[in-house]
Amino acid sequence: MYRTHTCGELNLANAGKEVTLSGWVQKTRALGGMTFVDLRDRYGITQLVFNNDADVALCDRANKLGREFVIQVKGKVTERTSKNLNIPTGEIEITVNELNVISESETPPFLIENDSDGNEELRLKYRYLDIRRPQLRDRLIMRAHIIRAVREYMDGKEFIEIETPNLVKSTPEGARDFLVPSRLQHGSFYALPQSPQILKQLLMVAGMDRYYQVARCFRDEDFRGDRQPEFSQIDCEMSFVHQEDIFETFSGMISHVFKKVKHYDLGELPRLKYHDALKLYGSDKPDLRFDCKIVELNEVLPASEFGVFNTAIANGGLVAGLNAKGCATYTRKQLDELTEFVKVTHRGLGGLVNIRFNEDGTVKSSVDKFYNEEQLRQIGKVFDAQKGDLLLIGSDKISKVRKSLGDLRLELAKKNNWIDPKAWSVLWIVDFPLFEKDEESGEITFAHHPFCSPHLDDMQYFDSDPTRVRAQTYDMVINGNEILSGSIRIHQRDIQARVFGKLGITPEDQESKFGFMLNAFRYGAPPHGGCAFGVDRLVMLLSGGETIRDVMAFPKTAGGRDLMMDAPTVVDKKQLDELGISVKA
Ligand code: ASP
Repeated sequence: MYRTHTCGELNLANAGKEVTLSGWVQKTRALGGMTFVDLRDRYGITQLVFNNDADVALCDRANKLGREFVIQVKGKVTERTSKNLNIPTGEIEITVNELNVISESETPPFLIENDSDGNEELRLKYRYLDIRRPQLRDRLIMRAHIIRAVREYMDGKEFIEIETPNLVKSTPEGARDFLVPSRLQHGSFYALPQSPQILKQLLMVAGMDRYYQVARCFRDEDFRGDRQPEFSQIDCEMSFVHQEDIFETFSGMISHVFKKVKHYDLGELPRLKYHDALKLYGSDKPDLRFDCKIVELNEVLPASEFGVFNTAIANGGLVAGLNAKGCATYTRKQLDELTEFVKVTHRGLGGLVNIRFNEDGTVKSSVDKFYNEEQLRQIGKVFDAQKGDLLLIGSDKISKVRKSLGDLRLELAKKNNWIDPKAWSVLWIVDFPLFEKDEESGEITFAHHPFCSPHLDDMQYFDSDPTRVRAQTYDMVINGNEILSGSIRIHQRDIQARVFGKLGITPEDQESKFGFMLNAFRYGAPPHGGCAFGVDRLVMLLSGGETIRDVMAFPKTAGGRDLMMDAPTVVDKKQLDELGISVKA
C-alpha cells in the first residue's frame, strides 16, 4: 500500500497513529539535529520530521532528498511544538521511521510554489510541474467543482447530456473553421465545430428536449486578447420555450453554481436592454460593480462658440461624459494620461474636455474660454457634480464616444479602486439587434449567429430598416465579461431563408451549406432556444485567475503554440501524401 492517508488530511485527532504517506518533496531543512521535510500531494502538505538522535542513517538519507523526489514514509503522527495554523495539517507532523525513495527528480527548472520564479513561457513548457503549484492545482479543482454543480443542476431539471461529433461540416458561423483533411476522400475536409449550434438544434427537431453538453469548441481566430483556439462551453438547448423560460432556467443555474462554489447568494439577476447598456455604460458587457454612468449632453449643452462640440452635434454625433467622483484634484499629468487613453486608435477620440468642481467651491475647466462659470455649473447639474468631482467630456461619432467613455469608465474604476473585489455583478443583456452594419463596408452581418429568431413584432422593418429588427438574443454578463450567449432560434424555414437572404447567402449556398438543416425543418421543427456558457471564463472569474490560460490544464500561448508538446509542427511527407496534400513553399 503506497499510503494510508493523503498529505492533506491528518490533524491532532490522529495523534499517535502509525501512518504511511506518499508524495513529492517540497523542501527539506536541517535544524538542530532534526531534518524537516514538507511532503506535498494534491490534497495538501504534511511536515515530516527525522530525528538525528533516533536514527543517524535515516536522517542522513533525508538530508539528501532533492526537491520533487517522490517518496514514501512510514511514521507516527505527533503534535508539533511550533504550530502552523494556516494549513489544516499544521498542528501535527510525522515522526518518520522508514523512508523509501520511489523516484528521484532532476532539479526542476523553476520553484514549484505559488510565487514561482519561472516566467510563463517556461511554466507552459513544463506545465506538468506548473500544475503542482497550489494555485493552479486549486483552479483546476474548482473547475471540476463548477462543472459538477452544473451537472447537478441540469440533472435536477431533467436535462440530458448528449455528445455531438467533433468532425463536422464547415458552415459559416462567425469565425474561421479549423479544417481536418480527409484521407479517404482527397480534397475534402471536415471542420472542427465552432460550437455544436446546428447539431443541438437538430436534436430539438429529433425531439430530445432539454439537451446539454460540456462541449469543446474550436475557432481559428487571430489571437487577440485572452483567447484560445479551443475552449469549452456548457452548451444547452430546450424546446417549447420562450425567452422567459431560458432566463428562469439559467438564472437558476448560475445561482446554483455561485451557491455551491462561492457560498454566495446572487439574488434576482437584473436585465438591461442592449441599447441602454451602450448608452449608459458604452459596452454590451457592462461591469455594474460600480456606478459612473455616461451622461449625454446634446440636448442640454448651453449655447457656446465651442466648435468641437457644436460640429459633433451638427454632424449627428454625440457629446457625452462621465463624472469621475472625487477626482477634481487630478494633476495635469493624470489628465493628460486619460486624454491619451481615449486617443489610442481603437478608441479614436480627439481629446477630453475636463471640468473640475474644486473643494474650495470654485469651478475650473479646460474650456473656460468658451463656457462661463454659470454655464459650467449648469453642465455640472446634469452630472449631479459635487465639490471634489471631475467631469470628463468627449464628442465625436456616437459609437466612438460610447466606446471611449465605456473604456474610460473602467480605467477610472481601476485607478481609483472603485470596485469591491468581493462584489459580483451578474446580469442579463437583452434585445440585441438581429443584424449589424459594418461601419466601413456598409454590409449587413448577423449580430450573433444566423439562427437567432427576430422579435416577430419587428418583422415589419425587416426589409425597410433591417438594423432596427431586434433579435430574441441574450447574454449573461459577469463582472464585465460575457459569460453566456444564446437565443430563441428560428424554427420556420421561410424566416430562416429570409435571414440567410438578407445576409447575402444565395439560395444555392443555403442549399449546399445548410441544406441538411433546412431539410430537417420540413419534418416538424419545435420552437426552441438555448444558450452556451463559456466555461473557461466562468472558472477564471470564480477562481480569481487573470487569463483563461490560468484555468486550463494545457493551454496554448497567446500566439497559439503548445510549448510543451511543441505544436503545431511540420509532419512527414508520407502523412501529407496519404492526405493528398502538398504544402506551398
Ligand atoms: N452557439 C452559440 C455560441 O457559441 C451559443 C448559443 O446561441 O447557444 O455563441
